[in-house]
Amino acid sequence: MINLELPKKLQMAQQMSHQVAATVFRPIARKYDKIEHCDTPEELIPLGQMIKGMGGDGKKPESQSGGRASDAVNNGANMMQVLTTAEMSWGCIGLMLSIPGLGLGNAAIQAVGTPQQKERFGGLHCAMAITEPGCGSDSAAVKTSAVLDGDEWVLNGEKIFATSASRGDAVVVWATLDKSKGKAAIKSFVVERGTPGMEIVRCEDKMGLRVSDTAAIVFTDCRIPKDNILGSAEIADTAEARKKAFGGVMQTFDNTRPPVAAMAYGVARAALEITKELLQKEGIEFRYEKSIYNSTAIQAEVYRMEAELEAARLLILKAAWMADNKQPNSKQASMCKAKAGRVGNQITLKCVELCGSLGYGEELLLEKFARDSKILDIFEGTQQIQQLIIARNVLGKSSSELK
Ligand SMILES: Cc1cc2nc3c(=O)[nH]c(=O)nc-3n(C[C@H](O)[C@H](O)[C@H](O)COP(=O)(O)OP(=O)(O)OC[C@H]3O[C@@H](n4cnc5c(N)ncnc54)[C@H](O)[C@@H]3O)c2cc1C
Repeated sequence: MINLELPKKLQMAQQMSHQVAATVFRPIARKYDKIEHCDTPEELIPLGQMIKGMGGDGKKPESQSGGRASDAVNNGANMMQVLTTAEMSWGCIGLMLSIPGLGLGNAAIQAVGTPQQKERFGGLHCAMAITEPGCGSDSAAVKTSAVLDGDEWVLNGEKIFATSASRGDAVVVWATLDKSKGKAAIKSFVVERGTPGMEIVRCEDKMGLRVSDTAAIVFTDCRIPKDNILGSAEIADTAEARKKAFGGVMQTFDNTRPPVAAMAYGVARAALEITKELLQKEGIEFRYEKSIYNSTAIQAEVYRMEAELEAARLLILKAAWMADNKQPNSKQASMCKAKAGRVGNQITLKCVELCGSLGYGEELLLEKFARDSKILDIFEGTQQIQQLIIARNVLGKSSSELK
């Protein structure tokens, strides 16, 4: 059973994140929306240092990293992450993603790294590079190669659309040890900034999340230490072992999808709050005791959006809670991402519509929220891919049986 009451520690973290969103992010959100490809916003540097000082640098305490230290029910690091992410996304998702120290690669290290690797890389700001020019949704199509040469891996290939890769300290790179061996040969490697052979070749211009850097990287005979591979270097040789090996790499997404869903929830809640305030100023009241059939079209629209948002929130909490309590949560992680990504897009755009020219103009943040929200239904697996994963889980089909 899920207990929806938040422990004091989580409530405090949630409140602090909201404060940061309201006092640090909101006032500078528009300014940085207009300066794409800037360095890390200076306002975020003390914040990154503070989070690091508080131990929030991507290292999760062992008992809370999706694991259970005792038989007690945990509300741990995953729950903390979705709650704080939602609050900060209420301020500005792009700025949140730009806080030094909090990268998607950190989640990968937590999911598949050894305790030593978690210790070694936990303090770095790690980006995650999976996508390539010929490999997006089909992450098994990775072509970047890694070959062992003595005590070093040699990486060659190209990665695109890697969030925080140009500003971060390191990139977690997906590469294949042997393309002919398929998914089982795909492993992830930590490549630290400044390693010869790793070059950031460009940063992308984008529709939303404009303050967050999204880089293309080329690896040319890039040599990294042998123990920078996350997990085992062995390539499984039986079908069952192969499935398990790739499943281990994919496990990263069980940790990263709920926070992306939380971003969608946070930004949609922000848009809805602004919209309701504007409508209330125009004399529209929201009276929840009245049935939806006795409401005006605009009232009913708002109630529906609120219900959708609450459904998304509950799915997010469930996926995070399961991760904290060591329950397999692939299906729930995809469900919350699919629901929140979709309703996040719908709500932010509907809010622009309901507020007319005020929604579309730059005086408020509504149009920016709608632009920022779009990517949340694309990265970490698109809407269609989440639905595919859910269908496979529900029907008990493998990825080769249901494509
Ligand atoms: C701002 C931004 C930040 C990003 N950050 C990162 C990052 O940090 N690291 C990283 O590795 N990548 C990152 N990405 C890349 C992102 O994860 C990919 O864009 C995403 O996985 C989709 O891949 P694709 O663009 O190649 O589209 P495709 O895979 O080519 O998909 C195109 C369309 O086809 C649909 N489709 C594909 N396959 C199927 C199927 N089997 N069934 C039904 N429909 C299907 C998709 O849902 C989509 O609608 C980022 C992208 C952006 C825009």
